[in-house]
This record gives sequence, C-alpha cells and structure tokens, in this order.
Amino acid sequence: MSASVSPNRRAELRVGGVTPFTTIDFPGRLAAVVYVQGCPWRCGYCHNPHLQSRAAGPARTWAEVAAWLRRRRGLLDGVVFSGGEPTLDAALGDAVDEARALGYATGLHTAGIYPARLAALLPRLDWVGLDIKAPLADAALHDRITGVEGGAAAVQRSLGHMLASGVAYECRTTADDAWLDDAALRRLSADLARRGVAQWALQACRRPGAAASSASIPSARTWAELSAPFARCTLRGPDGEHAVFDAPHYTNGDAPARIFTDS
Ligand code: SF4
Repeated sequence: MSASVSPNRRAELRVGGVTPFTTIDFPGRLAAVVYVQGCPWRCGYCHNPHLQSRAAGPARTWAEVAAWLRRRRGLLDGVVFSGGEPTLDAALGDAVDEARALGYATGLHTAGIYPARLAALLPRLDWVGLDIKAPLADAALHDRITGVEGGAAAVQRSLGHMLASGVAYECRTTADDAWLDDAALRRLSADLARRGVAQWALQACRRPGAAASSASIPSARTWAELSAPFARCTLRGPDGEHAVFDAPHYTNGDAPARIFTDS
C-alpha cells in the first residue's frame, strides 16, 4: 500500500547533511551546521557541489535532525543553516523557529540570492554570513562567477536588508584569482566600505585536489590595503579552518603565503 500524504502537511526542510560540531562556522558558538539541499547558482569554486541539485535525496529528515538537536541541548548552543542556498527552501523559517524554540542561537550562511526571504528571516537570526562574490557594481563578473544571470542586484538588496536589520554578520568573499584579481578585490573592498560594512572575510581559494600552498591569496601589501577600511577583516585558510590574519591585529609583516601548510 502506498503511503498517502496529507495535502495539509507542511513541507520539511530538505537536509543535505549535518556537521555535528563546529567552532568556526558560527562565531562565538559551539554549533551544528545543517546543510540545506539545493542552490540555483553554479560557482566554479563551490566546495559543496553535491548540494547544488535540489533533486538529490535528503541525507536525513529534518524531524531526525530536530530530535538530535533536542538531545544535544547543553552541549551545543548554536545551529547554523548552510548549503547549498538555505533560503531556497520554503521550510527554512519553520526550521529556524524550531531550533530557537529548543534554545539554540541561529545562524545562516547565504549568498543573498533571495533578498525578500532573507529579510523575513532576519528577526529570527543571531548571525548571518553573507557571500559577496564580486564587486557590487560588476554584475557581468558576478554572472560569470555564478554561471547565472541577474544575481548581483539580489545580493545588493540582501546586503541592504542585513545591514539595516542590525543583526551580527560577516560579509565573506572567496578570493579566487581566476575571477578576482587585486584590482577587483580593491573595488570590492571599496564597495563594501561605502555600504558601511564593518566585517569582511576573505577566504583563500583552493582548487579541488590542489595543495593548500597553491591557494590563491592576496599579497601582504594588497591585504593591508583591502583590510584597512574595516573594523575587522579576516583572511582565512583555503578550507576556512582558521584565520591566518585578523586585521587590525595583524602587524608582523609576514607574507601571507608563508602561513599556509598542508597539515
Ligand atoms: S552560491 Fe554557494 S552553494 Fe551555490 S553554487 Fe555558489 S558556492 Fe555553491
């Protein structure tokens, strides 16, 4: 007998995976990461291409994840929804509310693809990590990076919503020198400073299978220029596992490339 589905039954968040414990994906929190399946963009440097297709089967149900979160209370204090693009999923708001009801702080990783959905979620979020993929005025470059036309305007609106909300945040950019040369990074830094962004992180980009030492990374001089306008500006290793420089605290003058190792 085939199971019938009630037409009134609400859709569940489509979970593509879970990281049960992280100290780096939600600042200041001992958190779990819930990856949401599906993303309409196709960035060449995407580290989660298996999450791009919405059609892929869920790794586990949200009900299972929520039950697990219930058991983890007291051991974790945050849940960050990542992806894929979590705001793609109409059930995200309910999942965020459920995590909050369990006592968790809630965070979101988003590329700003759906500004209205982000605006609706912001009052229920404690922190947002917003991807900024290209200089804000360079829509053509943004299209080339994401493989989809028309995304840059959405990102600008999402940035505006996020900044206006007062939520804690970080703007973050993958510093892939195949797309962003030093001049583009300088334009992006200036754009973000003009918009009033105070927190920006650059993530060094490593090609799949390549050594960490081959990651693209700005020169020390460029980094000093890029980071100057921000209250806090972080340069991360190619896997995001650690901050290699954290301006304005970085002052020792070492070239960033010396810091990376494959360990
Ligand atoms: S927006 Fe993010 S999840 Fe989507 S393809 Fe680009 S890097 Fe991957």
